[in-house]
Amino acid sequence: MTVARILAVKGREVFTTQPHRTLQETAELLGLKNIGAVVVTGADGAVLGIISERDIVRALAQSGAVALNDPVSRHMTCEVFTTTSNACIHDIMERMTHSRFRHVPVVEEHRLTGLISIGDVVKHRIAEIETEHRALRDYIATA
Ligand code: AMP
Repeated sequence: MTVARILAVKGREVFTTQPHRTLQETAELLGLKNIGAVVVTGADGAVLGIISERDIVRALAQSGAVALNDPVSRHMTCEVFTTTSNACIHDIMERMTHSRFRHVPVVEEHRLTGLISIGDVVKHRIAEIETEHRALRDYIATA
């Protein structure tokens, strides 16, 4: 199964923030949209980083509430693992598990075109397994 197939179901909207925004603003966005991470983009739309709830929790644990005034650029991960629409979900699942992150932005020709979360991957994997089981049961019943 490809990334494109998941995006066809969930849509291609991606919530973004900018490096100069504060952690407070970012936490509010995460809460408002009920999401776990936002992609950090530049004025030209290029991906500059990613910041997740984990980064904000780490900053709070280290510095306390004053960290909420820090710019996103101070706490984001700059080396972002991205994927493309034609990538295989199994490979992404492996990478997420190995590198311990739950969000992968989809980028095409330097443009952000979607985001895959671990929740999306698990949901589609379960649907795939259920289809396989149904096909096997039907095969056994008619054999
Ligand atoms: P998450 O599991 O997505 O909440 O992220 C855990 C940590 O990995 C945080 O420090 C994120 O900034 C970082 N992270 C999340 N997604 C990615 C990604 N696609 N590439 C690199 N780092 C990431």
